[in-house]
Amino acid sequence: MIAAGQDVPDLLPARMVNEFVYCPRLAYLEWVQGEWEDNVETVHGRFVHRRVDDEPASDVPAPEEADPARPQAARSVMLSDPELGVIARMDLLELDGRVATPVDYKRGIAPDVPNGAHDPERVQLCVQGLILRANGYACDRGILYFAASKRRVEVVFDDALVAFTREAVLGLRTVAMSGRLPAPLVDSPKCIRCSLAGICLPDEVNAMSLPSLPDEVRRLVPARDDRIPLYVQAQGGTVGKRDERLRVVVKDEPPQEVRLMELSHVALFGNVQVTTQALRALCDQDTIIAHLSYGGWLYGITAGLGHKNVELRIAQHRVADGVQGLAIARAMVTGKILNQRTLLRRRARFATCRASRAPRSAGAPSGIDRRAHGGRRHGRETVFRRVSTAFPERGRLGRRGLCGRGAESAPASR
Ligand code: SF4
Repeated sequence: MIAAGQDVPDLLPARMVNEFVYCPRLAYLEWVQGEWEDNVETVHGRFVHRRVDDEPASDVPAPEEADPARPQAARSVMLSDPELGVIARMDLLELDGRVATPVDYKRGIAPDVPNGAHDPERVQLCVQGLILRANGYACDRGILYFAASKRRVEVVFDDALVAFTREAVLGLRTVAMSGRLPAPLVDSPKCIRCSLAGICLPDEVNAMSLPSLPDEVRRLVPARDDRIPLYVQAQGGTVGKRDERLRVVVKDEPPQEVRLMELSHVALFGNVQVTTQALRALCDQDTIIAHLSYGGWLYGITAGLGHKNVELRIAQHRVADGVQGLAIARAMVTGKILNQRTLLRRRARFATCRASRAPRSAGAPSGIDRRAHGGRRHGRETVFRRVSTAFPERGRLGRRGLCGRGAESAPASR
């Protein structure tokens, strides 16, 4: 994740160049905004890569030290090219003297297309080739290994592919620096396989922003959310963590466990303890913990750092500091006043008592209005009007207080 428009790192990951060629919006969502959702393809992809991912990065001999008589292979090799501004972790590097051949593992079957592979995969491999060249190796081709069909597909790094790859690297950097989310693809079959379709909403966004398109929105399947909440109501219980599970221990009862990945949120009722390890694990996976009284009153919520969308955070701060904040504050205060029905009804009872002691003539201000506003008539409509034009800060606070003042003298009861 990067801060859009400000902190584009010097080195772009080769995998993101792949995503950019697949769809610029996807690369932006993932890399700039920090969005991520799994689908069956991403999970299977990780499974195929599990050996490579778990291995520590290998050292490779420098080109001038490589022995042509002893071909070598190194796994999980991390190299970069500061001049082009890219970095890549190579699944496998085959070395034959100075000649290096990167091998990239792919989960699916080898596609039946003219170049033997789709452009995003070819470009990602070519980035690896350019990095190897920049580090002094001879590299004019690479291999895509398709696990499902157990086939090696050779990709030649010819001039056309190199130019296309350089263009993609520049395009990704430009888009990341622009700070603007690219538009979605239009009616693209790529969206059907995209794990971020539920976040991107391509057809919905296009239907709203491109009036020339038909209104029809495809039924792209969003990521499934099969997670469930965990309620712990046993008094004296403790919620701890063991491996990738939460373990609920209650005296004189067998412990119960639930997998962390299956939890949508955790609700703790009354005297239930939670260990630091469990708290940290839940925060880490963005699962909130609600702290409630024995009877179900909500006291507070523990949450992780939440959404990693830097742009959202920046926009929130901008809104809070600028004039937009005033409109939001007005709307919030108006909403709060509208929700004061309970208080007004309580005051109405009080006013009825006053009225029975001191009858008033028809049309005179009610007890609610007089007491709430120092004897002057200010109904709710008047207060709404004042709130909707209130400016600056002190004015807003004053208007809200105007409505609350009547409530403060009301009998305290719930
Ligand atoms: S859903 Fe389509 S437009 Fe949106 S990020 Fe994925 S591929 Fe791109």
